[in-house]
Amino acid sequence: MIRNVLDLLPEELNQCLLDIGEKEYRAKQILNWVYNNYTTDFNEMTSLSETLRNKLQNILSNSIPTIITKKSSNDGTTKYLLSLQDENNIEMVIIPNEKKNTLCISSQVGCARKCKFCATAKLGLERNLKTHEITSQVFLAIKELGDDKLTNIVFMGMGEPLDNFENVVKAIRILQHDLCFNFSPRRITVSTSGVIPQIAKLADTGLKLKLAVSLNSAIQSKREILMPISKTFPLSELKKTLIDFRKKTPYRITFEYVMIKDFNIGRKDVKALLKYLGDISCKLNVIKWNKVDDLPYETPSTREIDRFINSMNILSSAVTFRKSRGADIDAACGQLAAKNVH
Ligand code: SF4
Repeated sequence: MIRNVLDLLPEELNQCLLDIGEKEYRAKQILNWVYNNYTTDFNEMTSLSETLRNKLQNILSNSIPTIITKKSSNDGTTKYLLSLQDENNIEMVIIPNEKKNTLCISSQVGCARKCKFCATAKLGLERNLKTHEITSQVFLAIKELGDDKLTNIVFMGMGEPLDNFENVVKAIRILQHDLCFNFSPRRITVSTSGVIPQIAKLADTGLKLKLAVSLNSAIQSKREILMPISKTFPLSELKKTLIDFRKKTPYRITFEYVMIKDFNIGRKDVKALLKYLGDISCKLNVIKWNKVDDLPYETPSTREIDRFINSMNILSSAVTFRKSRGADIDAACGQLAAKNVH
């Protein structure tokens, strides 16, 4: 089976080379080309003999997605539409901040979770991304930004990352490996809608990373409306799982809360949220709803947002109002829909 070079951990690449009668040190040379010189083209790997370069073409693939379009927002956020080998499309977004460049990556073509506030949900699930289709988004972003400029990676693009568990976990291992992308665990965040069994499984992998949970309501009946996953995995069970997860990780869990006018920012919502988060070591990120065509929700006013955020101040957890980025190019939270997906 031909495997993509961005699919492989160093020990797997070593094995591929041993299998064709090559020495292990060749793997380090290839890794150096891929992760320090940012090329997957074997012909450019001039420290390898021509014979080896030809052999590599027979055992490894080096394809990466093609950038079809690139749209930049007034605030510097850039959204990329990428075409995969089977001509499915996905999106990734680079969000610059004062000292940071955050890459928001996709884990699936579409998504099966049907969250009511999300543009991706309207696509349904086409398929899971393969490991190299995840790592290659990071590869492309580094090539776009330049070496050492990409600081953070968030799995908040298209798809529920924990529904593509094995490939996402493998991708994170490659992202963190010091001979590959060498990203610190605290710079990688996986955001989930709350897939309880997979959160528990993730905790047991021993993998270090930051976990974010898209909460959006602490009232069970309301969360079920916004996020049908809550019918299968209710808030009470989710909380227990997250408390267990927290015991196995050095990082606090982040809860994401999209503020929707006349839906989840009233007095009862505040009370339920304070109760739900009160005894968890966590952070709360609130963000205002970004309008998505055909969805019935509205953005709250500045006054409503301020009132909601002020009422959260009694929480001992850090509360951050995350500014919506890239809304003018449909690159903000919940707006990714790879409009050319077929
Ligand atoms: S919010 Fe995330 S989990 Fe929910 S439908 Fe959208 S992509 Fe899927």
